[in-house]
Amino acid sequence: MTKLANYLEGRWQEGSGNGSPVLDPITGETLATVSADGLDMHAAYDYARQQAGPALRKLSYAERAALLSDIVKVLQANRDKYFDISLRNSGTVQNDSSVDVDGAIYTLSFYAKAGSKMVEKALRLDGESAPLAKDNVFASQHIYVPIQGLALFINAFNFPAWGLWEKAAAALLSGVPVVIKPATSTAWLTHEMVKDVVDANILPAGALNIVCGRPDALLDALNGLDVVSFTGSADTAASLRDHPRIKHDGVRFNAETDSINSAVLGPDTDDDATGLLVREVVRELTIKSGQKCTAIRRIFVPESKYDAVAQAISNKLKTITVGDPRKEGVRMGSLVNLSQRDAILEGIEKLAECSDILFDGRTESTIDLDNENTAVVPPVLFGVRNPDDHPLVHEMEVFGPVATLIPYRNTEHAFTLTRRGMGSLVASVYSNQPDFLAQAAATLAESHGRVHLINNDVAKAHTGHGNVMPQSNHGGPGRAGGGEELGGLRALRFYHRLAAIQGSPEVLGKLAQEAGSES
Ligand code: NAP
Repeated sequence: MTKLANYLEGRWQEGSGNGSPVLDPITGETLATVSADGLDMHAAYDYARQQAGPALRKLSYAERAALLSDIVKVLQANRDKYFDISLRNSGTVQNDSSVDVDGAIYTLSFYAKAGSKMVEKALRLDGESAPLAKDNVFASQHIYVPIQGLALFINAFNFPAWGLWEKAAAALLSGVPVVIKPATSTAWLTHEMVKDVVDANILPAGALNIVCGRPDALLDALNGLDVVSFTGSADTAASLRDHPRIKHDGVRFNAETDSINSAVLGPDTDDDATGLLVREVVRELTIKSGQKCTAIRRIFVPESKYDAVAQAISNKLKTITVGDPRKEGVRMGSLVNLSQRDAILEGIEKLAECSDILFDGRTESTIDLDNENTAVVPPVLFGVRNPDDHPLVHEMEVFGPVATLIPYRNTEHAFTLTRRGMGSLVASVYSNQPDFLAQAAATLAESHGRVHLINNDVAKAHTGHGNVMPQSNHGGPGRAGGGEELGGLRALRFYHRLAAIQGSPEVLGKLAQEAGSES
């Protein structure tokens, strides 16, 4: 049995003891074990800050972007292996593994390209200088400088590839060393990618570290000038926020958490828009078995469309074979493990107590499995007729192939109900009335990190409700964690400090030169 070693202080280190198993969710086979027991995180963090940080910051942004390009080449060369690991450890079909693996490669490539065009060497200007005295003899210029601490990533199980690289791309481009702690259940893929990149000897020693499992002092060993980017459940985020390094010492903390995302069909009774919504809902329910933080959980339709949409979604879901991703014809694979399966089944039971079941894949889907005790759960579509006082539908995230259809009376009602998610990652809106789409965007933007507007013009070109594109902000207010990631070069802000520099125009001009700017 392979025990996945941890890469810290520029060397592979095995944790002590037997470790926790990493399992195949279909066969139950133990694929590897992880242990972080006995590791010295204080030494590991010191090494990253003192060795890797200065070595990275010696390079310009464009030089670091070239390192990202080299990483892309390594990941591309090993792509087939990553698909195989995803199949075995995440139970995902090829298309779903692609969202994670190819999504990671695409995001890294995006930052490699964007970074290659950066002219700055050591710091970035923020806006123009502002006069503070008469005749501009004294002025203020805001600048961003890379942090000199490290970036700790604590990641969720559902994106072992993309989850690492969407964060590491911006951190490494900024000149900040990275420590990744993947979720234990899917640590294997993250580990393999880090190993391939370490073996390729691309980055300065200590720039990319991995710790699998739960080491002592993961957070204790941080200091106030490090940063943490967390992805996972709101409960875990809340407990991490309470840690003294974050609560007391001011470690910058970004959280991407639960979200009750929505799809909204416009009030125009347009068959094209309805078709677009139905297609997207089915996709979101089934991709990665609904284990996406951005997945559609609530579907809002005009009351007059409720029955027709329920029927259309059910008809499409019926055609999807669910089961072992190794089997030909299976389009929807497994959840990540049996404990997630049990949590999803419990969520389904709770929703069933206060909602109608419109489609139940457990009895209506074709299921192709040899073994009964797997983590496969077919899709379930609920419906509620009392959305204003429903006890669960706006609050409970069932992190699997589960969504609820909800009728609305008028536009205002639809927007009010959508906002009841109290902060979400994304809402998608389907209509062929541009005025309505624009109104929806302006209204929903306050409670959503992203608003995805779909009409016939973009039917073929749009990137999907649930796909997180590096060009666009990823994150959401309130319940979604209040974090921000990606959004092009905006992502670099998290790994920089903002300072107001006050001085004479001549001195500020020197700073501007340092940033590669003319003035
Ligand atoms: P989770 O249980 O909160 O775990 C997330 C990470 O936190 C894992 O690496 C976990 O490690 C670690 N962790 C948990 N307790 C910890 C502690 N006390 N100290 C240090 N680390 C700790 O979440 P999950 O089950 O992996 O992921 C599912 C959830 O993530 C869903 O709610 C989903 O909505 C959310 N999610 C959000 C986004 C987003 O971008 N907003 C993306 C993906 C997922 P172990 O694995 O070792 O326990």
